[in-house]
Amino acid sequence: MATNQTLEQIQKRRTFAIISHPDAGKTTITEKLLLVGKVIQSAGAVKGKGNQQKAKSDWMEIEKQRGISVTTSAMQFPYNDCMVNLLDTPGHEDFSEDTYRTLTAVDSALMVIDATKGVEERTIKLMEVTRLRSTPILTFMNKLDRDIRDPLSLLDEVEDILKIKCAPITWPIGSGKFFKGVYNLAGDYTIMYKSGQGSRIQEVVRIDGLHSPELIAAIGEDTHAAFVEELELVQGASNEFDAEEFLAGKLTPVFFGTALGNFGVDHMLDYLTKYAPSPLPRPTLDGEVEATAPEFSGFIFKIQANMDPKHRDRVAFMRIVSGKYEKGLKVNHHRIGKEVTLNDALTFEAGDRTNAEEAYAGDIIGIHNHGTIQIGDAFSTFKEPVKFTGIPNFAPELFKRIRLKDPLKQKQLLKGLIQLSEEGSVQVFRPLTNNDLIVGAIGVLQFDVVVNRLQNEYNVEAIYESVNVATARWVDCADPKKFDEFKRRCEGNLALDGADNLTYIAPNMVNLNLTQEKYPEVRFFSTREH
Ligand code: GDP
Repeated sequence: MATNQTLEQIQKRRTFAIISHPDAGKTTITEKLLLVGKVIQSAGAVKGKGNQQKAKSDWMEIEKQRGISVTTSAMQFPYNDCMVNLLDTPGHEDFSEDTYRTLTAVDSALMVIDATKGVEERTIKLMEVTRLRSTPILTFMNKLDRDIRDPLSLLDEVEDILKIKCAPITWPIGSGKFFKGVYNLAGDYTIMYKSGQGSRIQEVVRIDGLHSPELIAAIGEDTHAAFVEELELVQGASNEFDAEEFLAGKLTPVFFGTALGNFGVDHMLDYLTKYAPSPLPRPTLDGEVEATAPEFSGFIFKIQANMDPKHRDRVAFMRIVSGKYEKGLKVNHHRIGKEVTLNDALTFEAGDRTNAEEAYAGDIIGIHNHGTIQIGDAFSTFKEPVKFTGIPNFAPELFKRIRLKDPLKQKQLLKGLIQLSEEGSVQVFRPLTNNDLIVGAIGVLQFDVVVNRLQNEYNVEAIYESVNVATARWVDCADPKKFDEFKRRCEGNLALDGADNLTYIAPNMVNLNLTQEKYPEVRFFSTREH
């Protein structure tokens, strides 16, 4: 067992991410979370799209240009005697791999739904991912300051499409111009809404009792009568909150509010700190590691190059699985079998990088990467090698040959590509039989990002050409002789990825299928578990 002080700190950790469809309000909610977490003093100064300023979590030039969040950042703030870690996920679908891996590093997730629209396509996909690990989900119905859809039908839609039971914690009184506030079903009180309070923490106006004259006076007799009727329907049709079902990922508490109007986010956060799990165990090849294990352990879920243009460094993001980090901690870097000293880990307090003195299971720390760290790497003070599972790289589906405008910069190009592919969102393939460099990605936008970053960060100008590759598979084989034969015969289709793993690159699916049939001993993988 870890020391009492460490255990106490671990129990306080709540590590979560936001899943939503683009434009549902993730960035705005992030800002309001930082406001209620007192990380920032005033909202409105740090967010926006287009001409407005961006949130603190968005670092890169390209994000400013495109108004999408490419990076994954981690933000920590204290709230209600808990230490909350919020991991940002890229909203754009072309970065779904990043999001996928980030979701392996959290213990719960907040689903944000635009209540004027309902369940949208990206949310469905992300829920599929969280379901793989039965992640507990909280739901925030956003944009109540606009005319929303019928709230009961919104809950029905969540239950039908996302296959998760809804337990409304609050229920809205009106919406749009007529949005008066939310009624807390179990607590039998109403929190009144006031517009124009978006940038500050609001004074809470609370009215106890559904039938109190004060409430009737505040919202009007007719509205009150209609609301009481609606509530009866709601109470008949919905579920009560059940902590066990929530923890099993089967039931989600639902909150209504407006992120822009800074209303309701704190209700959600109160629940999250009270009911969301403290750091959960993580699976390894040899069983689970508990957060309370005495040893320190963690895995890398994200690598990001050149986060800070002034420093030109690469940072590996580690989710601490167990124990405590302290400056100078000696840990085993299991994949390469070396002991390393963690001296200058970073914490990400709302985007400001400060040297962390200590960090605990559930926290995220940033480690400077000088090329020896890969996504999925495990670090620990365990003597035996540890390998955390479930942090895959997906085979790209789109391929292009990349070529330099100035051929003298080949070395920089390769360096840039390998460093960018360490981040895991693109792959670089180097065929064994020629000098091509092939970039593989899951989404089209990744290609633009690569060229843009190569120019900004590595000072090389590159362009793409089409290439006759349709799919790639990582390969290995238990029988060295058979593998050698395969390598000899298929050399023209073999390439090394950025981390020197052997891959088979196929011009089309038919070719891949035929090759697989021909070499049944060789295993072809569409994901690479690091
Ligand atoms: P993201 O793409 O999910 O990060 O969404 P954003 O937070 O950037 O929000 C998308 C748009 O919706 C922005 O124009 C926000 O100002 C707006 N928005 C966010 N929350 C609310 C809300 O509660 N009410 C209204 N009316 N607009 C909102």
